[in-house]
Amino acid sequence: MEIFKFGGASILDKDSIKNVADIIQTNSGNRLLVVVSAKGKTTNKLEEALAHLRNNNLSQAKSKLDDIVDEHLQLGRDLGITSTAFIADIQNLRSEADLALQMQSQSNLELYDRIVSFGELLSTKVIYHYLISTESVGAEWLDIRSILKTDNNHTEAKVLWKETKVLLDKKLNLMNDDVVIITQGFIGSTLEGKNTTLGREGSDYSASILAYLLDLDKVTIWKDVPGILTADPRLFDNVNLIPKISYKEAIEMTYYGAKVIHPKTIKPLQNKGIQLIVRSFRNPTAVGTVIGPEEEGTLYPPIVVVEKDQSLIRFSTLDFSFIAEEHLSEIFDVFDRHRIKVNMMRNGAISFSVCVTNKSDKVHNIINDLESKYQISVDNDLELLTIRQPKTQLIEHLQSDKLVLFKEIVSDTVRMVTKPIEMIRRKSRED
Ligand code: ASP
Ligand code: MG
Repeated sequence: MEIFKFGGASILDKDSIKNVADIIQTNSGNRLLVVVSAKGKTTNKLEEALAHLRNNNLSQAKSKLDDIVDEHLQLGRDLGITSTAFIADIQNLRSEADLALQMQSQSNLELYDRIVSFGELLSTKVIYHYLISTESVGAEWLDIRSILKTDNNHTEAKVLWKETKVLLDKKLNLMNDDVVIITQGFIGSTLEGKNTTLGREGSDYSASILAYLLDLDKVTIWKDVPGILTADPRLFDNVNLIPKISYKEAIEMTYYGAKVIHPKTIKPLQNKGIQLIVRSFRNPTAVGTVIGPEEEGTLYPPIVVVEKDQSLIRFSTLDFSFIAEEHLSEIFDVFDRHRIKVNMMRNGAISFSVCVTNKSDKVHNIINDLESKYQISVDNDLELLTIRQPKTQLIEHLQSDKLVLFKEIVSDTVRMVTKPIEMIRRKSRED
């Protein structure tokens, strides 16, 4: 058996779904379980519907859901799906969502999971009905909520591995061997049958959970990039594909900000030595990148990770006393309360500096909480560059048009917080 996972970007429109169907057909010689996430930005749109609900605007919420349903029905028409079963399936899902809107006495998080799962349920229905309409492969739609059991920690549910394993084995035994199974990523349900979700971007994780429980050799994630690259091609020329990479290096890259694969996805695979293959749905014959166990003596090329929107915050004591542990613990407490990840930090005699990603007013919140106790200065719009396996020439090149505010070298990793020189010039012209 093999597992394929397709993300939202691979099923945007008629042509991309046909492409996905081609990939499935080409590989259907082996028993195939296909995990799919919601189409495009559907999950974000569902979150918007929920925001309307929170503002007591039921009609706006319903019209958002109508739009989403219409998009999927239109997609079905574009693909030439004519069966009444397709329309009935979509309408049943819509009724399920309407019911969720009417349910009293449910927490916001419970409601979130009931509404947001709609995206994956809809997308998989489109793909399933398209596949059977082409008659080129047999397919079955599997409601993963009947298999993937979780605790009731809504929006970030934890998998109940044993219960899921039993249900999965039982279901697969009952299913025909030569059909392609189409199922949803990201969603599951509690033992009482309430919808749950595994955290945003959780579809890769779903594929990994199933591969783990089925003791497979590999799982393939089809993406819009050729595999794992040495840097983001939107930011750099001369970017190369890394054909093979260890779980550890992949996790390190993710830690430093590369949007490779969520570490949660890698862990179950690493535990059983299951390979994770990242391939491009735009170029399905290319081999992509294999993430697997560490092989001794593997040398990686330099890998560059860039994080934008960085702020450097400098705290100094008001009375010029030394920065001591009690200050650090007070500062970190505030960071923890606002769920702010510290990307880099440095402790001096009377000041302490941290680099954080400045999103949604986070830095502002920190200043509010701490300005009565520290003198705080902030430098915004910076970049954090991380270079794994660095080479001197590359570092020099990367910092050539930048002012380096902060640099750290630890064995095989160089990190620096930089400001583009162009920005400094502009600022001084303005001044
Ligand atoms: N559809 C979900 C999300 O957008 C899960 C996923 O795409 O992996 O977060
Ligand atoms: Mg997605």
